[in-house]
Amino acid sequence: MPTFKGLSTRCVHAGEPETDTPQTPIYATTLFTFQDTQQLSDTVAGRRPGGLYTRFGLNPTIQALEAKLAALEEGEAALSFSSGMAAESALFMSHGRQGVITLGDVYGGTLTLLADQLPTLGIPFFPLLGHELDRLEETLVQGPKLIFLETPTNPALEVFDIAAIAAIAHHHGALLAVDNTFASPVNQQPLLLGADLVMHSATKYLGGHSDLTAGALIGPRALLEPINAWRKSLGSVPAPETASLLARSLRTLVIRIRQHNAGAQQVAEALAKHPKVTRVLYPGLESFPGHDLAKHQMHGFGGMLTITVGDSGEDATRFVDRLKLFALAPSLGGVESLVTQPLTLTHHAMGAAERERRGIGDNMVRLSVGLEDPEDLIEDLQQALAD
Ligand code: PLP
Repeated sequence: MPTFKGLSTRCVHAGEPETDTPQTPIYATTLFTFQDTQQLSDTVAGRRPGGLYTRFGLNPTIQALEAKLAALEEGEAALSFSSGMAAESALFMSHGRQGVITLGDVYGGTLTLLADQLPTLGIPFFPLLGHELDRLEETLVQGPKLIFLETPTNPALEVFDIAAIAAIAHHHGALLAVDNTFASPVNQQPLLLGADLVMHSATKYLGGHSDLTAGALIGPRALLEPINAWRKSLGSVPAPETASLLARSLRTLVIRIRQHNAGAQQVAEALAKHPKVTRVLYPGLESFPGHDLAKHQMHGFGGMLTITVGDSGEDATRFVDRLKLFALAPSLGGVESLVTQPLTLTHHAMGAAERERRGIGDNMVRLSVGLEDPEDLIEDLQQALAD
């Protein structure tokens, strides 16, 4: 398969077979058979491509998906997983054993894994908030060899300078892994900015239709090898059916993301003018603190935005409950628009003091702008804000 320059072309063609079907078929099998021991041995040793055992990821449907994922992030190779958390678990088990630093807000499940679970296995955790960036070097000196961050973050859409942080990590012999779930490879390619590994909850924009759960890690083969060993043992490959569905979704990734970007920009601009909306956090607004950095390192500003409504958690809840087109649900990145209030969902378990320390207000509302007509979305938001 030739390597294509254009991202849309890679979405459609990368990883697909050069045979008589445009897509790789679903190999709904747990195993592959061999003509003789030589063929089997060559496959086991990696000298012969193709299927062996599905839990090892050695199934052509899974391999085709991984070739496409690698092409989209411009990485050497990719591993797919049964969820974003499965990808993170294998990442921390392999490259995080000397300790993991997070910068800024990270997904709640990531926090539980790193703060509560992995320390019981002796893996230390060093959480730093965005305003503590100046403590990164002194923290690296304590020994952790992996920095993990999201950019833009959830829910405040904080933007981190990937190139600058990668340089600091490398100076200390550490790796930088970026959770690129919010941006998608259409809007941001962390490997090209100096990150060592990219992680995705493919459950979100990559899948894009809220109908599959999957994860991915992309980067150099040498870094993926130890991760692959953990994936094998944890048994966290996606099913071939899911791999095929995800590859199907990736074929339309570019046009979907461009529309998410355009819709979110329109919604953000409309909300910024509304008297009851006290703040709009969206990297595409010139007034947003991370706008210049986002413009520099991103190709688009994404479909996620967070607003503050009125003065209290009750004001925000009333607004959320009055929305008709935005569905109240966890998750993000699908074709349908979704709304969450961090206070009542993603940050519910976090104490009030910790939420305040992180700048997560009770009146914050997070919007995942889907692919509906922006005019309809704005009308829905305006009726929910009306007296
Ligand atoms: N990373 C981010 C930014 C997320 O939003 C999520 C899930 O919401 C995850 C990782 C975990 O992904 P999954 O639910 O696919 O395990």
